[in-house]
Amino acid sequence: MTEARLAPGARIGIIGGGQLGRMLALAAARLGLSCHIFTDREDDPAIEVAANATVARYDDEKALAVFAAAVDVVTYEFENIPARTAEFLAAMKPVRPSPSVLALTQDRLIEKNFISGLGIEVAPYAQVDDAGALARAVAQIGRPSILKTRRFGYDGKGQALVREGSDLAVAFRSLGGQPSILEGFVPFVCEVSVVAARGLDGDFVAWDVGRNEHEHHILATTVVPADIGEDVRQRARDKAKRIAEALDYVGVLAVEMFVVETPAGLKLLVNEIAPRVHNSGHWTLDGSVTSQFEQHIRAVCGFPLGVTRAHGPVEMHNLIGDDVYRWREFLEVPGACLHLYGKAEARPGRKMGHVTILKGAK
Ligand code: AMP
Repeated sequence: MTEARLAPGARIGIIGGGQLGRMLALAAARLGLSCHIFTDREDDPAIEVAANATVARYDDEKALAVFAAAVDVVTYEFENIPARTAEFLAAMKPVRPSPSVLALTQDRLIEKNFISGLGIEVAPYAQVDDAGALARAVAQIGRPSILKTRRFGYDGKGQALVREGSDLAVAFRSLGGQPSILEGFVPFVCEVSVVAARGLDGDFVAWDVGRNEHEHHILATTVVPADIGEDVRQRARDKAKRIAEALDYVGVLAVEMFVVETPAGLKLLVNEIAPRVHNSGHWTLDGSVTSQFEQHIRAVCGFPLGVTRAHGPVEMHNLIGDDVYRWREFLEVPGACLHLYGKAEARPGRKMGHVTILKGAK
């Protein structure tokens, strides 16, 4: 049986081979750990920087068993891993965060029930299993509202806006008639996220809160600290802490929130939990004492967590699609740190890299 606490030289298995896996593998290497990527795509960007890789389907139990035998701990860099895969691996090696966290965050309804069960406010929502339930949900929640599939939604996929005059049967069919939820449309002043970590001993740390701007449903920019006041930022971190503790979480997580203006001041509604390192935490690579990637590796290995202090105000800009061709321009900006993911093809909407701009740097 593997020790709960690992040491340099240990082997970390990462499910998924995208840019998050790549940056995790780079951070692990710096701590004298080696990574083994398990992915179903042979051209994934994590592969070229990791010590080992297995390319196989996520339900290939023979390949999963060989992978599990070759590593000391398993973690993941995307959340849509089949539940059976996570459980199969967990029977052989520690999986951190646990498969139960994965199951909870894979289903928007279960996730929302969990968050509101903690007494943390979310947008009004209702379960929608068929077109009739959608009509009842719209009568309860009103318009505008957003229909979201319970599973496999990301970057705005699996969502339909229900406005005045929208045909409900058409909206339900547009999402493939899948089990969904209807959420009230939140007139937010901005969106923020808390990136935080919880260690094997239950210690909790969080970075300062970032304000996130999206374009075409894809994160474009994160500005840290979010300009919502220290008091609201602290409340946001407290919510993330309660969520991490209730999940008995190990690793880095991100909690996305809407900031809403009320007569009593700014209010936070939790939108969703990402059980992994997150795009809105990329700024920590250059802008903080400990990056989210190093922190995740520390946590899943049972190492002490690092300090999350920021070096100063910072902005992170994603390079999406053709933006990547401006790489030379970014290299010339004082205080700009360029990260490219090594992806061969710059397709529209594809995250190709990011630039962190340290506002205090000369
Ligand atoms: P999600 O997949 O839930 O993170 O949603 C993607 C994006 O859609 C969010 O970052 C928001 O910009 C927007 N969005 C999602 N849910 C709502 C909501 N209830 N009200 C307003 N905007 C929303």
